[in-house]
Amino acid sequence: MTIPFLDLGAAYRELKTEIDAAIHRVLDSGWYILGPEVEAFEAEWAAYCEADHAVGVANGLDALILALRSLDVGPGDEVIVPSNTYIATWLAVTAVGARPIPVEPDPATHNIDPTGIAEMITPSTKVILPVHLYGQPTDLDPILALARSRGIAVVEDAAQAHGACYKGRRIGAHGDVVCWSFYPGKNLGALGDGGAVTTNRADLSDRIRVLRNYGSRVKYVNEVQGENSRLDPIQAAVLRAKLPHLDAWTERRLAIAEAYADGLAGLGLILPNVPNWADPAWHLYVVRTKNRAALQKRLAAVGVGTLIHYPIPPHMQAAYADLGLAPEALPIARDLAEEVLSLPIGPQLDLPAAQKVIAGLVDAL
Ligand SMILES: *Cc1c(COP(=O)(O)O)cnc(C)c1O
Repeated sequence: MTIPFLDLGAAYRELKTEIDAAIHRVLDSGWYILGPEVEAFEAEWAAYCEADHAVGVANGLDALILALRSLDVGPGDEVIVPSNTYIATWLAVTAVGARPIPVEPDPATHNIDPTGIAEMITPSTKVILPVHLYGQPTDLDPILALARSRGIAVVEDAAQAHGACYKGRRIGAHGDVVCWSFYPGKNLGALGDGGAVTTNRADLSDRIRVLRNYGSRVKYVNEVQGENSRLDPIQAAVLRAKLPHLDAWTERRLAIAEAYADGLAGLGLILPNVPNWADPAWHLYVVRTKNRAALQKRLAAVGVGTLIHYPIPPHMQAAYADLGLAPEALPIARDLAEEVLSLPIGPQLDLPAAQKVIAGLVDAL
C-alpha cells in the first residue's frame, strides 16, 4: 500500500525523542503501578476535557464497564445504546448483566437519533449511552434533557472523540460519566491498551477510582468487589508526551476532511454531514456508497487502503444471537454496515496523499 489506511508507527516517529524520554523516566523511577505519572496524566486529561475529574483505567471497554458499575447498573436494568456502534458499547452493558436496548441512528449523522429514545424508555431504564461515532459529537442536549426529566443517567462513549466539541465545549463532562479509550489507533493513542473516565461528579469519580483498584482505597482494605483495571504508568507517560500535540493533530485531520469534502463533492458519495454545533475529532472519515466493494477494490489497486467501520452491527453478531434480534429489526444499522467505507485520515497523512485518495475515487466513479 502506498497510502496505508493507518500507519501507527508514524506518530511514534514524529515524537520519538519525547516518547523515549517519557518511557525511560518511568523505567528509572522504579514506580510501575499507578503513582505520580498516572496522577499527572489524570490531571492533564481532566483539564483538557474541561472536566473536574479523570480516572485512568486499563482500556476503553473497562472505562464503560466501570462507569456503569459506578451507577449501580446490573441485572434487571436496561441501557439505551445505539444500534450503530462498535460492539464494545454493547459488551459493557451485558458485562454488568444489564440489557442493551438499541435505538437506530439518524442516517444523516450515523449517531443515535435522539427522537427515537423516549419511546424505548421503561421503568427499568437506568442509563442512556450515546456514542460519538467516528469522532462526530452526538446531539447531547435533547438526550440530557430527556434523561434529567426521567431521572436517568447519561454515560458517553467517547472512545473516538478526543478533542471533539459539542456547542463549543469539549466532550468530557456533558453527561454523568464520559468514557475514553487510548487504544493505539485512537486520536490520542497509547503504545498498548489504556483508557479513562472523565466526569464532573466527585461521587462517581471516587467510586470508579476504588473499583479500578480491587475495591480498595487503603492497601489490603477492600470496601467493594472491585477489579484490576489500572492505567499503566508507562502508557500514562506516553500519553502525556502526546497530549500537547493533540490539538495540532486534530487540525491536520480537519484539513484532510476539508480536502475530502471539496474533492469528493458531486461524485454520488454520501459524505459526512457536520451540524453547525459540532467540532468533530475526525477519528474516521466515512463515506456511504452502494458500490462499496467495487470502490474498495479500485482504491486498493492504486495503493489506497480503506477499512469498514463496522461490517457487522452488534445485533447481527453471533455474540448477541441470544437477544433474538433479526437483521431487519434494526434496518438502518444493517444498511449502514453494507454501505460505509472509511478513507485514510490521520495526523501523519499529508495533503498530497489525501489528493491521491481523491484522484483514485474520481477515477473509479
Ligand atoms: C475503541 C472503542 C471502544 C473500546 O476501547 P478499547 O480500549 O479497545 O477497549 C469502545 N467504544 C468505541 C466506540 C470504540 O471505538
